[in-house]
Amino acid sequence: KKVKVALLFGGRSGEHEVSRNSAYSVAKALSDKYDVFAIGISKEGEWYGPVPLEDIKQFVPEHYADKKITILPHPASGGTIYQLPGLKPVHQAEVFFPVLHGTFGEDGTIQGLLDLAQVPYVGAGVLSSSVGMDKIFMKKIFAEAGLPQVPYLYFLRTLIDNHIDKIITEIEEKLGYPCFVKPANLGSSVGISKAVNRGQLEEALKKAARYDRKVIVEKGLSVRELEVSVLGNDQPRASLPGEIVPCNEFYDYRAKYIDDRSALYIPASVPEEAVKRLQELAVAAFKALDCAGLSRVDFFLTKDTNEILINEINTMPGFTTISMYPKLWEYSGLPITELVDELVRLAVERFADKK
Ligand code: ATP
Ligand code: MG
Ligand code: MG
Ligand code: MG
Repeated sequence: KKVKVALLFGGRSGEHEVSRNSAYSVAKALSDKYDVFAIGISKEGEWYGPVPLEDIKQFVPEHYADKKITILPHPASGGTIYQLPGLKPVHQAEVFFPVLHGTFGEDGTIQGLLDLAQVPYVGAGVLSSSVGMDKIFMKKIFAEAGLPQVPYLYFLRTLIDNHIDKIITEIEEKLGYPCFVKPANLGSSVGISKAVNRGQLEEALKKAARYDRKVIVEKGLSVRELEVSVLGNDQPRASLPGEIVPCNEFYDYRAKYIDDRSALYIPASVPEEAVKRLQELAVAAFKALDCAGLSRVDFFLTKDTNEILINEINTMPGFTTISMYPKLWEYSGLPITELVDELVRLAVERFADKK
């Protein structure tokens, strides 16, 4: 009998569409060995399922109006998901795989729900997910762990609304141009802008503040972009680094998902000692946040001084068949089917560990 895996996709996130693409390849990779029950979460946060695997990419919630699911699997039910009307149990999931990126998926909220339901799930727990999602907390923990990073400042939306001139002056004094302005809790470059002058900075701050009540501003460096995949629980291992060469001025949403001219190089062409350092830093970042299962750790290699700086961690990285995370493992001899299998195993291991 096949183990049942409930796959969650979509979600109330700026990365809803990206999640559908990731989920489709995860579902395909799982489907040989596992009984996959796919649950689509609409942009409004409503759950529907089961969704046939072929419909994941083009998921239209309206087509599943009669397959609405109440969202709390009850602890006593061992992962049973109830379907309205009449709260009829429809599926007994042994493991959950939240293939969700960004808010309400990668930020600890879903993880909290699954903890309440007492079911194993793939990936980092509540605290690690939320710290990984919040770039300000993430940087503070990384700094405490001694990881090298870009200089930054952060501001609340209320301050941006009321004292934008003061903020801009502070950024100009402490960081200068170019700088990168980001919503603190997002991904896929949604809401991120590069600013090279006062006018652009003002626009960028206002834009980021539309996505989040916290905004982070970083010194903009001229960099190569390297990424490392990490896999494991208490003894995580790192893949070789890959390199991204964005087709746009930076790796923005368009360069990631719309324009296919961005290039991935696997492995990255960097000296042996840089490879070692990147792998050490990636594992250190994973451990600093006490992550579980998987993470993709993104780095900058500064072009002028050859410094390796950590940019960020993604606790549920993009997972399409052409995404960096599975590609790096594939290159290391772990094809995507074995990778998802290992992730399910790690989920069960961590669940047992927590008890
Ligand atoms: P992901 O989709 O990986 O979760 P994200 O939305 O969390 O991305 P970042 O990785 O922080 O966003 O930034 C997106 C991109 O912007 C980077 O890949 C890089 O191209 C560019 N970038 C971000 N910060 C800087 C910086 N300080 N200096 C130079 N380039 C930067
Ligand atoms: Mg990110
Ligand atoms: Mg991300
Ligand atoms: Mg990134």
